[in-house]
Amino acid sequence: MKTHVAVVGAYGSAGVVVAERLADEPDVELTLVDDGDPGGGLCILEGCMPSKELLTAAERRFAAREDDRLEGPVPNVDFERVVEAKDENISTYAAGRRGHVEELSEREDVTLRRETATFLDERRLAVGEDVLEPDYVVVATGSTLNVPPIPGIEDVPFQTSADVFDTTAFPDSGLVLGLGVVGLELVPYLAEAAGMDLTVIEQLPEVLPDADPAFGDELLAYYEEHFDVDVRLDTETARLETTDDGGVRAVIEDGDTVAADELYLFTGRKPALDSLGIEATGLTPEPGWVEDTMQARDDERVFVIGDANGAEPILHVAKEEGAVAAENVLRHRDGEPLESYDPITHRVVFSGLTELPYARVGHTAASASEAGIEHVVATRHVTAEGVFRSRHYEDGLAKLVVGTDGTVLGYEGLHPDADVMAKTMQVVVELGLDAREIPDRAYHPTTPEIIDGLLIDAVDELDG
Ligand SMILES: Cc1cc2nc3c(=O)[nH]c(=O)nc-3n(C[C@H](O)[C@H](O)[C@H](O)COP(=O)(O)OP(=O)(O)OC[C@H]3O[C@@H](n4cnc5c(N)ncnc54)[C@H](O)[C@@H]3O)c2cc1C
Repeated sequence: MKTHVAVVGAYGSAGVVVAERLADEPDVELTLVDDGDPGGGLCILEGCMPSKELLTAAERRFAAREDDRLEGPVPNVDFERVVEAKDENISTYAAGRRGHVEELSEREDVTLRRETATFLDERRLAVGEDVLEPDYVVVATGSTLNVPPIPGIEDVPFQTSADVFDTTAFPDSGLVLGLGVVGLELVPYLAEAAGMDLTVIEQLPEVLPDADPAFGDELLAYYEEHFDVDVRLDTETARLETTDDGGVRAVIEDGDTVAADELYLFTGRKPALDSLGIEATGLTPEPGWVEDTMQARDDERVFVIGDANGAEPILHVAKEEGAVAAENVLRHRDGEPLESYDPITHRVVFSGLTELPYARVGHTAASASEAGIEHVVATRHVTAEGVFRSRHYEDGLAKLVVGTDGTVLGYEGLHPDADVMAKTMQVVVELGLDAREIPDRAYHPTTPEIIDGLLIDAVDELDG
């Protein structure tokens, strides 16, 4: 008797990894389900990939505008061409993803259903006209926009990140709610490419809440100075309403008001569980509802991966969770202990139109202290680094956290190429390398010299 596994969300980044792992597994019957139209997953269609296309167009304008060695008018962004080029690319990537899943479905005992899957109860899953009773369900349904419960929001039109990706004509002013990862990407885009006058309301008291505070402070100052954005931190919106001229107004808790032509919601994501009928099961999506084995706490035959579990909505996490879930389904079937997924933090925020990205790998000084690890911290500012100055970069900093035994515990960077350096630092941190043994020899003059500088400073401090 074969073990029947249903993967709901097989076109997504998490689901496809499960499909790849289990497609050729003997004794497994696999049903791949996805209702995406056209299908291809969030990262390809409305996430990582289209956002970077837009950012690079604006970044090139920004570089020309900021560099006082260049003369002549600053070029405008051709939105028609930006959207057209983006659509060409994402349709190619999405077709590739769909083709890959279709190819998997041609294998023995693998079926693809391009329909919505909805739980009827704990065991039964309606897929189109059929009712399936799989032995295991892997929920990989992704996420949807988190619409905050602000009074009046249901009566006010708003734009999302996905809308921005398709917009070719922008109004003069915008009110943005949210300066998290998506806001940090798209606020400079709206300001630079569209020339919009922006007010940003963020309920948290800081930018980059998990970072060492120096990074959020630097980034905020950068946005205010270079993109002329009015950011209101630690601010709650009491009410939203439309204005007589068709715009939007936010009434802030202190009674102040902010009006603009358009409202942009960059207010985060939440698990996409509505069409799945999760309420028909015994599962309650709340903190802790999915174990770090990816198994649902309240149903050992359900595994929840990717954005759907609400843990960390990042692409590589979705993929790694998919790999863990596929193995753990087999382990559970075989009565073996399940393995946990406990990744080292690895994040990149494509802030400053990708020119001033923030990257974090491993520990910050605060998280190392919280974990009770004795450490030293090295800090370098871009202004003091010749390699950055000669390229006319003037903002940013980097920090290295090193255990007193020499182990590199973490890196944070807010500087040009920090996104790229995150890979090097991932290798360093995940392999637990000793700062004294890492060659401090980047090719001169290249931006990773800042890492060499951090290593030298940290080793100096260790050696007292
Ligand atoms: C603007 C933006 C930018 C981003 N940029 C980055 C970035 O630069 N780097 C990064 O790491 N991450 C980024 N992310 C996050 C990343 O895109 C997601 O973490 C990742 O794509 C989630 O993959 P997933 O497999 O969990 O979900 P998805 O890719 O969304 O897959 C879910 C699938 O489930 C299907 N589905 C849902 N419900 C049902 C149902 N009931 N029945 C059948 N099928 C169903 C959907 O059609 C979809 O195909 C970004 C996100 C956004 C919004």
